[in-house]
This record gives sequence, C-alpha cells and structure tokens, in this order.
Amino acid sequence: TANGGCQKIRGAQLQELLESKQNVLFDCDGVIWNGETAVAGAPEVVRALKQRGKRVFFVTNNCTRPRQSYVQKFARLGFGDVHEQEIYSSAYCSAAYLRDVAGFSGKVFAIGCPGVHTELRDAGITVLEEEEDGPDVNISNCALDPEVRAVLVGYDERFSFMKLAKACCYLRDSECLFLATDPDPWHPLRGGRITPGSGSLTAALETASSRKATVIGKPSRFMYECIASQFELDPKSSLMVGDRLETDIVFGVNCGLSTVLTLTGVSTFEQAQIYKDSDEPQKKDFVPDYVVESIADFLEALVE
Ligand code: PLP
Ligand code: CA
Repeated sequence: TANGGCQKIRGAQLQELLESKQNVLFDCDGVIWNGETAVAGAPEVVRALKQRGKRVFFVTNNCTRPRQSYVQKFARLGFGDVHEQEIYSSAYCSAAYLRDVAGFSGKVFAIGCPGVHTELRDAGITVLEEEEDGPDVNISNCALDPEVRAVLVGYDERFSFMKLAKACCYLRDSECLFLATDPDPWHPLRGGRITPGSGSLTAALETASSRKATVIGKPSRFMYECIASQFELDPKSSLMVGDRLETDIVFGVNCGLSTVLTLTGVSTFEQAQIYKDSDEPQKKDFVPDYVVESIADFLEALVE
C-alpha cells in the first residue's frame, strides 16, 4: 500500500477493500476462534461473505485434527456452512505434498497427533505404526524400518526422546525426506499459559540431524498452491487474514495477497509497527497492509 502498510481500517475503507476481493483466506486460531470459543461475530462474517458470492478458505497451521474433525468444530462453534473442501490444514497439505509433489512411495515416520496420521492414510500414504517400546528397548537396540523414506514432524503431546532418536537415525539417509507441518514456535492456552508448537520439536530434530526440514505450513507458499490446485484463484483478488505476523502475514506476502492483521490473537499492533519501522528490508514482509481490531469489523462493512 501507498503508505507502507499497517493501516488501521474499518467502515467504508474496509467495505471498499472487501468489495475489491473475490477470495478471503482466514487463519483459524486467533482469527475466527480462540481455542473452543468462536470470535464474536465470526460466524456471521463467514455467512455474509458467502452470501455476497465471495469464496472463503480456512488455512490453519494446526495439524492435530483431520479435515472432517474441523467440519465438526466449525459446526459446533456456530459456523453452519463450512465444508471440508474449504479447510486447508498443515496435516492435509503435508499429505498432499507427499502424494502430489514428492510422488512418495515407502513409509512415513510421523511425529504428530492422530490428525497427521489420519490425513496421511486418507491420501493413501503408508505410516509406520507407533509401537510401545518395551522396558529394555533403547536407541542402540530399537528396531528401525528400512522402508521409511520420510520423516514428518508436527505438534505431538507425546513427543519423546525415543521418537527424536529414531527420527534422527532415519534422517542419516540423505534420501529420506524431512518435512515439518508448520514452524509455529508456541501457542497461547487459556490462563496465560503456552504450549510449545511444531517448530520447537522440528528445531530439536534439525539440530540432532544437522538437516533443515521442508516446511509445509504458513509462511511457506505450499498451502496456497494446494488451494490453487483445486480452485481457480487470482492472488490479486485474494485477501489473507491472520493474527500472527511471522506466519500469516509473511504467507500472504509470499503468495502476493493483500494482508490483514486482526488483533484478536497473538501479534499486536505495536509489533507490526516495529517491523514497519525496522531498517532491515526483509522485515517489510512482516508488515500487514491493514489492521482490524477483530474480523467482527467486517460485518458493518458488509451491510448495505
Ligand atoms: N498448531 C497447534 C497445535 C495449535 O494448537 C494451534 C493453535 O491453537 C496452531 C497450530 C495454530 O493454528 P492457526 O494456524 O489456525 O492459528
Ligand atoms: Ca493463528
């Protein structure tokens, strides 16, 4: 934008922006819900956008649920009209990457929640079964499967030393693919607590293996390419709405989309300004074009 971005907008200006776009990509946590609570007004915003013939997509780095479980979550939180084909999660897109981009055959050693395993299986990819190691099993005597050709790391509340150690052994083979669902460092929980994200687990494995993971989730372009392979999508007529500058806004910039930061999640207006005022040119990729308090502000911009 002309003034270098970070422009707080509402009302008529927001209306003009929304009218100029055909597709709206929403991040989920911190934008349309916080944990198990919908952001006030968000279900009405999604409905109103669709009523106006806009296409809406949900782009989440959260790999813990399969698509079908997101459909249920949307319904439970009052979003009555959200379909599986509109939901792009880092688990779904990781499976799509292995199948469509890597032309993968072999087995995947997956560190992650059941959502990751379900999406891989739904894409026809073989996942190494998790087995309980007996008390005498350690990293020097555990079984390794010679058919493993990829390691995928995502958020895993049952992450363990043995999983890290096995993954690192598989990655000794330079032909073994190394993928990460997303780079998120941590996530807010209720009561001011945080939980470490996939990025923290990936960092451990990157250090242990001296390799760098291919990141599937935001800010990588791949999730956008995944949508664009299934729907006709012009970046110029698409808007990315997110709450985290380092993932959502950089993703939008990487894909050539207009970007909106909403202040109902992780990043603050002050952090966006710090990036804007930075002397480092790369930091400009972290600056949103526009800032809104909440996507509820879209509502008044959508009534005539
Ligand atoms: N991954 C996990 C495990 C999470 O709990 C969350 C947010 O709650 C995310 C990723 C981020 O999701 P999103 O990209 O929708 O903000
Ligand atoms: Ca978010």
